[in-house]
Amino acid sequence: MPAFADVFAQRLEALEAQQLRRSLVETTRTENVILQRGGKSYLSFSCNNYLGLAQDTRVIAAAQNALADYGVGSGASRLVTGQHPLHRTLEARLAEHQGSDAALLFGSGYLANLGVITALMGPEDLILLDRLSHACLLDGARMSEATWLRFKHNDPADALRLLKKHRARHRHCLIITETVFSMDGDRAPLARLRALADAHDAWLMADDAHGLYARLSARSGEKPDIVSGTLSKSLASYGGYVCAKPSVTDYLATSARSFMFTTALPATVLAATLAALDIAEAEPDRAARALTHAQRFCTALGLPTAHSQIVPLLFGDAALALAAMQQLEQEGLLVTAIRPPTVPKGTSRLRVSFSAAHTEAHVDRLIAAIRPLIIHDMRRHYA
Ligand SMILES: *Cc1c(COP(=O)(O)O)cnc(C)c1O
Repeated sequence: MPAFADVFAQRLEALEAQQLRRSLVETTRTENVILQRGGKSYLSFSCNNYLGLAQDTRVIAAAQNALADYGVGSGASRLVTGQHPLHRTLEARLAEHQGSDAALLFGSGYLANLGVITALMGPEDLILLDRLSHACLLDGARMSEATWLRFKHNDPADALRLLKKHRARHRHCLIITETVFSMDGDRAPLARLRALADAHDAWLMADDAHGLYARLSARSGEKPDIVSGTLSKSLASYGGYVCAKPSVTDYLATSARSFMFTTALPATVLAATLAALDIAEAEPDRAARALTHAQRFCTALGLPTAHSQIVPLLFGDAALALAAMQQLEQEGLLVTAIRPPTVPKGTSRLRVSFSAAHTEAHVDRLIAAIRPLIIHDMRRHYA
């Protein structure tokens, strides 16, 4: 038997041989989309800081004021030592933004999804997830001990097939999808999934982690029963939340283990998030700019129309995607290659994410650098 440390050294070598090893690189950030690594400066198209608020002086000032007033840490779980008033303030604002009646904050988006799925669903229940659902949605389904099955990506007909086959044998049923898919940038057919859920006595949950928080016109008729989200992408800070009816969020506060047994978000984070949400709603041109950049990029390169600020460039092979990433890196551009298990085998890609902090000149620079990297059979990956 190899020694303890050698077992994992061998596993790392095996991952390396398949181009699947990941590594951590020291990186600092001085501006929203400009990073420094190894003494070099890079223009990033990999950050989820979609609205360019992570370095916004108003958001920083809000965090600094809260820091001065309330200190650094929150000390314990909200159930143990009580909650800061800003928890309820932010929850009310998030619920209102999502057109929901109530919200509950969690330590991260990952913890929110784990918490809600494991608290609401159990061994007698059925969970149907979109095949491309984020890892934490899948982990929640697994940990819930419910029967879980995946339907074809954005395919309500396939979800219907599973409902017809399995729904009757289970107590409750939860259909899970994402408003905007994290690695593909496309959107779920929420109205059709809502109708499907209603027709089969199922609940609908949508993860809005990649939402842009611009004020939307009412989306009645396609409202999920549960919307989860993160504070760490468009809202520029850290944490997660779940929106639902008050009976659901109150139940989560007293039963979701990833809410109960972890320390509350600190006031600095709450204050920064509130400031970011105010700006996101008051300045909807930020969300519009991120989308316009994505659309211009796709048009220039003959790619399918962008449906969000996230654009996948599908290379298929992990080695090809990595080589493209390295080529761009030499030109001072950071576009991270995404490989299995983050995406299905054979769909390795560059994931390009656009931000309001990018300028048109930034996007032009990326277009010029990517044009020679487009492989001629790339289109076959776009069904
Ligand atoms: C990033 C992400 C999460 C996790 O959010 P964190 O706050 O980073 O833990 C959850 N779901 C989706 C779809 C994501 O992209």
